[in-house]
Amino acid sequence: MKFGGTSVGKPERMHQVSQLITADDESKIVVLSALSGTTNNLVEIGNAMATNNKAEAKQLIEKLENHYKDFVTQLLKTESGLQSAGRVLQEHFEFLYIILRISFSESLNRDILAQGELLSTKLFSIYLTENNIDHALLPALEFMTIDAYDEPQVGAIKVKLAQQLKQHSDKKLFITQGYICRNARGEVDNLKRGGSDYSASLIAAAINASVCEIWTDIDGMHNNDPRIVNKTFAIEQLSFEEAAELAYFGAKILHPASIWPAQFYNVPVRLLNTMEPSAKGTLIAEKAGSVGVKAVAAKDGITAIRVKSSRMLLAYGFLRKVFEVFEKYRTSIDMITTSEVAVSVTIDNDVNLKEIIKELEPFGTVEIDTNHTIVSIVGNEIAETKDVMKKLFDAIEPIPVRMVSYGGSRHNVSLLINRSYKDQTLQLLNAGLFGL
Ligand code: ASP
Ligand code: MG
Repeated sequence: MKFGGTSVGKPERMHQVSQLITADDESKIVVLSALSGTTNNLVEIGNAMATNNKAEAKQLIEKLENHYKDFVTQLLKTESGLQSAGRVLQEHFEFLYIILRISFSESLNRDILAQGELLSTKLFSIYLTENNIDHALLPALEFMTIDAYDEPQVGAIKVKLAQQLKQHSDKKLFITQGYICRNARGEVDNLKRGGSDYSASLIAAAINASVCEIWTDIDGMHNNDPRIVNKTFAIEQLSFEEAAELAYFGAKILHPASIWPAQFYNVPVRLLNTMEPSAKGTLIAEKAGSVGVKAVAAKDGITAIRVKSSRMLLAYGFLRKVFEVFEKYRTSIDMITTSEVAVSVTIDNDVNLKEIIKELEPFGTVEIDTNHTIVSIVGNEIAETKDVMKKLFDAIEPIPVRMVSYGGSRHNVSLLINRSYKDQTLQLLNAGLFGL
């Protein structure tokens, strides 16, 4: 069971989480995020440190410390609970104050970012103890590891997690940190923003769990972005493939990498709402449940690159040469379309864009469009479903579309549009595809 930041962000929410995890007596591992807002605050502290703005960093740390002091006085009732929490706060905030006095580095920054999950789990553990709920706290830094390519390996995690669990063979309830891990150099690292979902699915895969429950503040994966369109509904069931496409192409509810471990080890994933525990939520499993369009998602910050060459494109080996450039810069491609004279690709990571352009230039004219959005229409067998394509293109008739990708999988049609058309496109598709 994984609980996100808002699910643990208030003392009364932690109380609710304690009820949810003790509702039955099946053994379980509970993965917690940092309290909502904390990781953002830690990012700010890191940024202030990185720019040598120590006064600002100090202020931010003090503000955060006060927030936690308030939090524990509301959360805990007993003298011993408050004392334990006081020691935890002292330990972690002392660490933050110490870093003000040492020189900043990227690895130190990752230590800063790790404080949120360490604090949330330790405070929650004290709360459970205060309420006589038997449990053990598992240190994620002892079992959640990533390799030299920053990839977690379920096999390695499984072995180390089993060792941790063996030390508490009398326990049925375990609490651990999401997000944080140890890298191949042995340093504290993390699974990127929103990574607690990923932690949960890796753990579920490693222990061959019967289910991986992701508890958030919304009642499942929705058919469209509720922040942009008026009417949306929760999807009952998705296949792993559909969920992976949606998470990758912009559905914020789930970290995109969190699907593969569950899929590979065939652990069903349930997206549930802490604020409304009896709501059905979304089940992600091997089977798609139904046929047709399920949802629309959008991913911003996309750069499109067009390489135009009348001479080279006809030749075999051209695409390989183009792709090799992206491989060299470890930049993954999201969409591809080709024509007789040009190939267009999109990337979401333009850190190495300058170098990539330079290496593509010998192949032909290179054109760049920044600030684009991929809108993905995801569903089961949409290619075979009657009228989907017609409805889709009728719906977006007023929108200039830069690229279309169709047929790559049976679950997805993707459109590339200028970011400025995003809201309108999502609204038009909500009407055209879902009648909303
Ligand atoms: N606390 C981390 C973040 O805010 C990880 C997570 O919540 O999943 O990104
Ligand atoms: Mg999240």
